[in-house]
Amino acid sequence: MTSVAADVHAEAKGSLQVKPGPILLMGAPGVGKGTQAKELVAKWGIPQISTGDLLRYNRDHGTPLGLKAKEIMAAGKLVPDELVNAMVAERLKQPDTANGYILDGFPRTLGQAKWLDEHIGAGPDGPGGKGGGGALPVIAVSITVGYNELLRRITGRRTCPACGTIYNIYLQPPKVDEKCDLDGTPLVRRSDDTEEVFRERMRTYESQTAPVVEHYRALGRFEEVDGAQAVSAVAAGVEAAVERLRSSGTKAAGTETKTK
Ligand code: AMP
Repeated sequence: MTSVAADVHAEAKGSLQVKPGPILLMGAPGVGKGTQAKELVAKWGIPQISTGDLLRYNRDHGTPLGLKAKEIMAAGKLVPDELVNAMVAERLKQPDTANGYILDGFPRTLGQAKWLDEHIGAGPDGPGGKGGGGALPVIAVSITVGYNELLRRITGRRTCPACGTIYNIYLQPPKVDEKCDLDGTPLVRRSDDTEEVFRERMRTYESQTAPVVEHYRALGRFEEVDGAQAVSAVAAGVEAAVERLRSSGTKAAGTETKTK
């Protein structure tokens, strides 16, 4: 699983004035977490850790974890916490997480959120814990987009299997139909990007992941960014939110702000 994670090294060339630390990029399926994480990786030089990508890597390589996850993913359900937490723990041991990292698609349940808080330093190991990130607390930024727009994004999403570039056949089509602009590779559609699986993933999101948003909101380590804007505007909103959250330290409960 580590070779996927190792793909995300990039030169820091961004304007962030604070050490990023652990950042959770949250939001329903299709809000653009993956796209935004890649923007931030390029800007800040910290890795993106996508549990969806790590699980797909395991599934496609037929690892024991991948075999357990395969059917669950195909149905739009969640892989059990203990499996995902162990996978994340393994990834966070790598030295590239020392200044921070972007968690994309994790935590997705309250159990995962509590495990992460503990693992990173709220637990018996004290600040810094075992989780990399330079001893800073987790901060969460949630990207919000309306249901119908999400459906269009999900069913139109295509990815280049060679370089990972993400397209949308309705909103951001490639120059040549179904081919990557950068390397000409035929684009692929994720097997769970169908309308039926999308609806199940949204139900899963509402019942299991929405409480995680409330968890970080209550801790005062949370901001929302409107995801129905241009990619660059969303990225600027996420960056500003991270700056505010990091420079204000841990805010009092319930004082989160909205970036619209
Ligand atoms: P994603 O690419 O983030 O949409 O994830 C694709 C699928 O992988 C999800 O629909 C889940 O089946 C599984 N998955 C990804 N992240 C997690 C997680 N944190 N917890 C449980 N299952 C996950």
